[in-house]
Amino acid sequence: MSKIPFVSKEKVEEIASVYPTPFHLYDESGIRKNVENLKKAFSWNKGYKEYFAVKATPNPFLIKILQEYGCGCDCSSAPELMISKAIGAVGDDIMFSSNDTPLEEFKMCNDLGGIINLDDITHIEAVEKACGKLPKKMSCRYNPGGVFKITNDIMDNPGDAKYGMTTEQIYEAFAIMKEKGVEEFGIHSFLCSNTVTNEYYPMLAKILFELAADLKKKLGVHITFINLSGGIGIPYRPDQEPNDIFVIGEGVRKAYEETLIPAGMDDVSIYTELGRYMMGPYGALITKAINEKHTHKEYIGVDACAANLMRPAIYGAYHHITVLGKENEPCDKKYDVTGSLCENCDKFAVDRMLPEIDMGDYLFIHDAGAHGFSMGYNYNGKLRSSEILLKEDGSFQLIRRAETAEDYFATFDCFDFYNDLIK
Ligand SMILES: *Cc1c(COP(=O)(O)O)cnc(C)c1O
Repeated sequence: MSKIPFVSKEKVEEIASVYPTPFHLYDESGIRKNVENLKKAFSWNKGYKEYFAVKATPNPFLIKILQEYGCGCDCSSAPELMISKAIGAVGDDIMFSSNDTPLEEFKMCNDLGGIINLDDITHIEAVEKACGKLPKKMSCRYNPGGVFKITNDIMDNPGDAKYGMTTEQIYEAFAIMKEKGVEEFGIHSFLCSNTVTNEYYPMLAKILFELAADLKKKLGVHITFINLSGGIGIPYRPDQEPNDIFVIGEGVRKAYEETLIPAGMDDVSIYTELGRYMMGPYGALITKAINEKHTHKEYIGVDACAANLMRPAIYGAYHHITVLGKENEPCDKKYDVTGSLCENCDKFAVDRMLPEIDMGDYLFIHDAGAHGFSMGYNYNGKLRSSEILLKEDGSFQLIRRAETAEDYFATFDCFDFYNDLIK
């Protein structure tokens, strides 16, 4: 099995003649088809809403595409709130799922009318302090602890995660919040990341629906939404079976009908905060082979590095690579594909079987559309690349320019030697 790039070699050559590599390229038509399907899969729920996890791909041009489909923004920092505000996503279009939150950020979210999702019980007081009083609509983040298993596989370890409140705390928090005038409640939980199984959301939904029904029964609180957060994954490897969002949507519907409807809670909205699933496959890092090296191994050096896409370096994550124009050639050469950082972990691929690579070939590094550009950094004085949108009609648009040395040195601009640096 293979993964098919969403762009041809000819198109990349055309783009690269205007905007030099490396760059992150995004596929408008893929983004649109995917969000349309997501909405269909949850159309059984009247209040369904996706809050795109801004941290995954914080580019206003891309988030605006999702906004056309009614998506809001899931934020957890002041600049992320500023992006939301800039594109007109305010009020109920903001979900603020932050943690370890400074008071100013609670205030900023509240001033924009966003929904504050409390990570900890002590933050009830923090929000009162920051905002004067508690907003009428609030949410709490739940962490049941233990390990999260699907059949016999351990998926993740919530008991080891810094997020959310314990079962005891969430009952206490809801009671306090109700007493302090909160009228509409939500529950949020994020137990596993990048799940490539159709069972994660339905299982999480069941846990949260049962908790919601019991909170309502014991405390008489009005729960109006349940936020399944992020965690639906993508198949980074070509042999992985992708999630079927329609099976996932039906699984959540079944849990809803089994648990919430009998509890008289048929008006509860389902929210999601997907990041990776919304953008991951629809972005690629495009980079050019600029060096080859034959020592103890065969190396191909490219013009991007881990500063442009960090996942392989920090998680050992697999990102599939297609050599553009050589899609049908045999993968009979074994390479390490490296970036230029002075760190040996700066390898996009290790011992990867690829077609023979010539200098100047363009490599399409798949699934870089989420947690790709956004995790970028400046180590070794490496500059962040541009971002380009490949539109439905085949034209392309610069949606973020490449960083320059001036940008890199900008925080020295209050010092005398700044001008010598950029000259
Ligand atoms: C990171 C994050 C998400 C998105 O996660 P994905 O794995 O990209 O779907 C959603 N909600 C919160 C609170 C997050 O921290």
